[in-house]
Amino acid sequence: MNNQEIDTASMDLWERAKTIYLSTLYSEEERSQADSYFSMISSISVKDDVFTIYVKNKFTADYLQEKYSEKLKFALNLAGGNKETVLEFKVDPQSIPAIIQPIAPKPVTNNNNYAEQAQAKVAAPFISTLPLEENYTFEEFVQGSSNSWAFAAAKGVANNPGQKSYNPLFIHGGTGLGKTHLMQAIGNELKKKNPSMSICYLTAETFLNEYVNALQQKGMESFREKYRSIDVLLVDDIQFLQKGKQCQEEFFNTFNDLTWKHKQIVMTSDVSPKNLPALEERLISRFIGGMVQEIEAPGYETRLAILKKKAENLTPSIPQSTLEFLADNIKSHVRAMEGALAKVHVTISINPTQELNNEFLSFILKDFIEKEQTLKRLTIREIQECVAKKYGITVNQILSSDRMASLVTPRQLAMYISRKYTPKSLQEIAAEFDKKHATILHGVKSIEKRLDVEGELKGILVDVLSEFGYSINDKLE
Ligand code: ADP
Ligand code: MG
Repeated sequence: MNNQEIDTASMDLWERAKTIYLSTLYSEEERSQADSYFSMISSISVKDDVFTIYVKNKFTADYLQEKYSEKLKFALNLAGGNKETVLEFKVDPQSIPAIIQPIAPKPVTNNNNYAEQAQAKVAAPFISTLPLEENYTFEEFVQGSSNSWAFAAAKGVANNPGQKSYNPLFIHGGTGLGKTHLMQAIGNELKKKNPSMSICYLTAETFLNEYVNALQQKGMESFREKYRSIDVLLVDDIQFLQKGKQCQEEFFNTFNDLTWKHKQIVMTSDVSPKNLPALEERLISRFIGGMVQEIEAPGYETRLAILKKKAENLTPSIPQSTLEFLADNIKSHVRAMEGALAKVHVTISINPTQELNNEFLSFILKDFIEKEQTLKRLTIREIQECVAKKYGITVNQILSSDRMASLVTPRQLAMYISRKYTPKSLQEIAAEFDKKHATILHGVKSIEKRLDVEGELKGILVDVLSEFGYSINDKLE
């Protein structure tokens, strides 16, 4: 076996082990934390029963060792690895220190090797502490009405980076709805089209950490230079900037410098720019100076399309009826859908003859489905009370048939929330509002239309939902 083969085989083993391990985690936080640590892995090698995982820095190596070593070893065994395998985490000798690295490719002088010279010319000065996930492309992203505007804007940026109408692009939406995917798709596309473009992808938290390090190590000059000499800055989870006041100042300056030079900036956040209270006003007004797009939770059709896409290349393949079951039962966000799909896949990989009927699926996906149900604890009465309070009216007025405009809006809004944010049937809702089905449907439709154009109404909806710990993305259909 040559080296190439060894590496591919160990990579495959690692991928299987990773899927198995991730599918055993239920909580979103755990999964995304593990995911982000695993994304720091630069290569894998297996030699004489020693499975070595190379990462970019010592901190990550130590952390992975302490937190994941035991469980990963178990997953490696399950994935078909040797029981005697020793697992170790090492720093990749080829990795460059995260901070203060050269920005542009070094000029090639006195070098007669033309192949190297040619390579150096196209080598991207890709300065990023976080690698781009290669699967996060536009092709892999499923469009639907919940994300089509954000998708179009991201495409626009990838086609024309730095163009005023899209700069900066601010994408917001609940967790696990595809913000990072879209943002990295921009990076991947630009990198493909123009390898010499310098693109920097990082989270606001990384920016903050690097800033603090630079301060401590007196490396402010290099820090500034690094961020001001890139072509495209992709900052994920900008809400983390709220943690550091001084860093906001630095970001503001970097931001201005880059936009002044017509360099593209893209940001994502789990809330809209207006809901970032700890951010300075001037930053927010800069953030909304370009284009702001929201990603919402996908409806049934989009969920099914996403699941089909994710299941496309899996063997053994996942039956259509199982994908429908998943689309029906896992609605909160795409990451949860992927987790549930991974779980089904691991199960049928181990036992390909298993019949995937609803009873069995409900059993193996119990945790996922229960989590979905806790999102549905709202009662219609609570909704009526909350909306009435917001509008300064009484629940009786909501329940009445009085057609005064000041009562119709709150009444219909309460109907809308009951319909879209609880799993109650139309019949149950109609009974609790003491109205006919058609009246409820009419009310829901009317609010739906108005929400597209009336920012104020949307604000009230967000407020009411937030009183229950919900976001607008918790919508069920
Ligand atoms: P966020 O950054 O909004 O929390 P991510 O971009 O990390 O969400 O998405 C979570 C997972 O869901 C990723 O694996 C991503 O590929 C997948 N995903 C989300 N939306 C879509 C979509 N529309 N099409 C395909 N995959 C999606
Ligand atoms: Mg994200």
